[in-house]
Amino acid sequence: MKIMIPHSRPTLSKAEIKAVNEVLSSCQIAKGKKVEEFESDFCKFQNIRNAVAVNSGTSALHMALLALDIKGGDQVIIPSYSCCAILNAVLYIGADPVITDVNEDDFNISFEAVLKNLTKKTKAIIVVHNFGLPAELAPLKKLGLPIIEDCAHTVGGKYKDKNVGSFGDIGIFSFYATKMMTTAEGGMVASNKASLIDKIKDLIEYDQKRNFKLRYNYKMSDIQAAIGIKQLKQLPGFIDKRQKLAKQYFQLLNESGFTLPKDFVDRKHLYYRYIIKLAKKHNIFNAIKKLGKEGIECNSPVFQPLHRAFKAKGCPVSEKLMKEALSIPIYPSLSLHQIGFVAQKLLKLFN
Ligand SMILES: *Cc1c(COP(=O)(O)O)cnc(C)c1O
Repeated sequence: MKIMIPHSRPTLSKAEIKAVNEVLSSCQIAKGKKVEEFESDFCKFQNIRNAVAVNSGTSALHMALLALDIKGGDQVIIPSYSCCAILNAVLYIGADPVITDVNEDDFNISFEAVLKNLTKKTKAIIVVHNFGLPAELAPLKKLGLPIIEDCAHTVGGKYKDKNVGSFGDIGIFSFYATKMMTTAEGGMVASNKASLIDKIKDLIEYDQKRNFKLRYNYKMSDIQAAIGIKQLKQLPGFIDKRQKLAKQYFQLLNESGFTLPKDFVDRKHLYYRYIIKLAKKHNIFNAIKKLGKEGIECNSPVFQPLHRAFKAKGCPVSEKLMKEALSIPIYPSLSLHQIGFVAQKLLKLFN
């Protein structure tokens, strides 16, 4: 059967098309004034002093690690139940990833597991605000180590009234096609420390430099920035819509045998993903197939947990979530009616 409801989709309007056309017509298409405007709009929106746009979230992570002077042999703590880009960025600089388990209730890195994994060589912690739910940052911050906040799923999110990305030393964002907002491909690094962002501004442009320091070509283009400027204006509306759809899922599925996502007082869920757990007797991979046959595309929230890269044990919660967690469609262009259709099929097949 044909997929009627894809798992994720970007939300684009005429404003983005017009903005891209204007940039193309101007012939100034690579990094220029639009990138500057996007960076400055982003700072205002995030209430953070400095930001630099880059060509992907992965590049943003790589640059954040370099800005913090993390080197070969240093250990960087990262969550297991997450995206492979994080592991790659740590490996780019030759540091050792210390893959750490997550909490069962919020899918974010577990403070107790972090404590167990600390050593003299630990030089940074990458905290992912996973699936739209800000992580519990306060205890992690007290450890006194540099924190990179990965806000790829949670741009616009708040932790105790402060925007995510500004609580740690440095925050990174991804604007890949299906993230909270998009520039097709793209990313941002933001920090209240100007020195960190200045360092990255130098590292992402190789041309016309006096010395031969190793640099990268990680610049964003004005075409992407023009899309980003328009997307950022719509982001509050996107978040509202996601929260409305999540409420609808909750109302329709709450009385059933599913475990539904939790919300927290000091850290509101943006519902980048809506992740449910089925009763134990159901196999997730069969469930994904069955829903596909009904025209609904669902996924495992994580393709594979990162500790498997090293055949490491010791991340039992991540392994458990791989067996139990199911990500169902949620994005701003879905209607309440479509949410009803998904919920009805879930109830029919798995209740
Ligand atoms: C998508 C993502 C990234 C990487 O971003 P890209 O723009 O795809 O390179 C990093 N971290 C998390 C948590 C992500 O979801």
